[in-house]
Amino acid sequence: MDSQRAGRCPGTAQKCFLIFRRPWREILLRAFLFYKLCSKINQMKIEIKKNIALAEYTTFRIGGPARYFFEAETAEDLKEALLWAREKGVPYFILGGGSNLLVSDEGFDGLVIKVSSSRFQVSGNMINADAGVPLARLVIESVNNNLTGLEWAIGIPGTIGGAVCGNAGAYGHSISESVKGGKAMTQDGKIVDFDKNACRFCYRGSAFKEKDNNLIILEVQLQLAAEKNGKAKKRMKEILAERSTKIPPFASSGSFFKNYLVKDSGPLLKRFPELSQKIKGGKIAVAYFIEQAGLKGKTVGGAKIAEEHANFIVNAGGAKAKDVLELAKICKEKVKEKFGVGLEEETRYVGF
Ligand SMILES: Cc1cc2nc3c(=O)[nH]c(=O)nc-3n(C[C@H](O)[C@H](O)[C@H](O)COP(=O)(O)OP(=O)(O)OC[C@H]3O[C@@H](n4cnc5c(N)ncnc54)[C@H](O)[C@@H]3O)c2cc1C
Repeated sequence: MDSQRAGRCPGTAQKCFLIFRRPWREILLRAFLFYKLCSKINQMKIEIKKNIALAEYTTFRIGGPARYFFEAETAEDLKEALLWAREKGVPYFILGGGSNLLVSDEGFDGLVIKVSSSRFQVSGNMINADAGVPLARLVIESVNNNLTGLEWAIGIPGTIGGAVCGNAGAYGHSISESVKGGKAMTQDGKIVDFDKNACRFCYRGSAFKEKDNNLIILEVQLQLAAEKNGKAKKRMKEILAERSTKIPPFASSGSFFKNYLVKDSGPLLKRFPELSQKIKGGKIAVAYFIEQAGLKGKTVGGAKIAEEHANFIVNAGGAKAKDVLELAKICKEKVKEKFGVGLEEETRYVGF
């Protein structure tokens, strides 16, 4: 029984115990838990960097610092980084090649995990690649191994992980055509297999891009077709040459907005019958709308709507994220005003 409650005067030992009871006992307990947490974090092999400028990790060359930054070369690294973020209670963002992003001028107040895994293997008609392998590397390896199916993707920057997440595409093809499956990591570090169906591919999207998705792509299995006559390599070279005439020679995130899907366009085609001439592969290029709205060459600060391709907002020199946002807003307003069409970003915003 507690001596105080019993109404007796406590002895010296009891006095010590009572002093120790509160708040000291609680303080010591908390200090012990904090020590355990710190030693657990210290036991982790990973080295988290601080205040890393994200502009250097994006093709737009825009963006403030990541409060914490880590490059994951293996699945184990990735797991430890995810656990670190959880224990610290900070949000994380998965970065591939940074070629489809606009990072805010304030940066990202959390942990940016750059997926830098780089192994791949070609066996028969299949390529197994880590998520961090550059897409261009896989295109070149595929044609060098007499495989066809990826040559359309030459010239698209970024990683295979980023390409699967956004279902990258060009020249009437998309990466979904070649994905057989792969491995992904859950937020709590478990590795799961996925197949093509689980990817829920759509135009410039997949399950990995969905809002509440917590899966991080670790590996991708691509199924290609054999070809012996060197046609794929020839086609790849042609595409590369063609792209070099179309892509503006400035830093950018590629096409800023998604093209307009014709399935939504009944009333639009009634109002603007000339648009039926512009339909290609079930889409109307939004560059046409932006150009018709008179915005080609328009600038805000260092950001500009490219002369070469009106769906490219480029960093013409010293652009801030706020300049790009303002220009994007103008595009949306003017295109809505002229055509009644709502533009949707293909570029992903980070840290806003
Ligand atoms: C000059 C230029 C030309 C381009 N041309 C094309 C084109 O023709 N067609 C086209 O489709 N795109 C094009 N793009 C856009 C871009 O290159 C692609 O969208 C590319 O696939 C993005 O890959 P990334 O690794 O850079 O991804 P990031 O930009 O780093 O990330 C994009 C998204 O993918 C997520 N992500 C990245 N890695 C993983 C992973 N391992 N697991 C889960 N999520 C992940 C990120 O969280 C983010 O949401 C172009 C860009 C530029 C700059």
